[in-house]
Amino acid sequence: MGAGPGDPRLLTLWAVELLRSAEVVIYDRLIQTGVLAYANPTAEMIYMGKPVGKHESRQEEILALLVEKARAGKTVVRLKGGDPYVFGRGGEEAECLAEHGIPFEVIPGVTSAFAAPLKAGIPVTHRRLASCVTVVTGHECKGNEDCLDWEALAHVQTLVFLMGVSNAGRIAERLIAHGRRADTPVAIIQTAYWPGERVVTGVLGTIAQVVVEEGIKPPATLVIGEVVGMREKLGMEAPLLKN
Ligand code: SAH
Repeated sequence: MGAGPGDPRLLTLWAVELLRSAEVVIYDRLIQTGVLAYANPTAEMIYMGKPVGKHESRQEEILALLVEKARAGKTVVRLKGGDPYVFGRGGEEAECLAEHGIPFEVIPGVTSAFAAPLKAGIPVTHRRLASCVTVVTGHECKGNEDCLDWEALAHVQTLVFLMGVSNAGRIAERLIAHGRRADTPVAIIQTAYWPGERVVTGVLGTIAQVVVEEGIKPPATLVIGEVVGMREKLGMEAPLLKN
């Protein structure tokens, strides 16, 4: 189940309905407490956050737990931040259930790839500025430097990088090496829809410095492209209604 980027108002009605009937809820560190409040009060709540550097073993534990709880006849909700099939390993978890013959549904969620820029006043496409957008992981495949086509990426109008904070410098270097202008606008949206949400902007050539100077920490979404300029017009809090 996709839980959206944080604010419980971004849960779908379908998600809320199923959370209310869940017997077991398995969640990780991207899930905000306001979202968990929608779970059935009698549900067993299991935190399976992944400590840094322990991803692989933790993922196996999660798969084993899903199978174990389902085999015990429980209705299990596996809550994931954003959309479950956008870099959330939701595909692998669904594969595991399919291989074990366990019936499941996948509930889409609002992905931070689009909602985080939106919250910062950045439409990822715009008729005058961008006719295409590409969502990329900032964690490159281990041991395979060529798993992304940087030449092609350098020419995509809007690029959204998830999990890109620690590699922001390398991302910028590669895009510039493949022809992207160093003065391309960039925005970093940290913890969109969480308390303490923050947006910083800059240009591609100096973005690594900005990350360090501003102390940007994950989870944060990077947006690269001319659409970032729209923030000046649209990046304001909703105006108060006059009554
Ligand atoms: N399935 C999730 C993405 C999982 S990968 C989705 O669709 O949103 C985790 C990455 O998502 C983080 O490293 C960060 O880049 C991004 N992310 C998740 N929640 C975020 C939030 N509230 N604000 C900004 N970025 C977020």
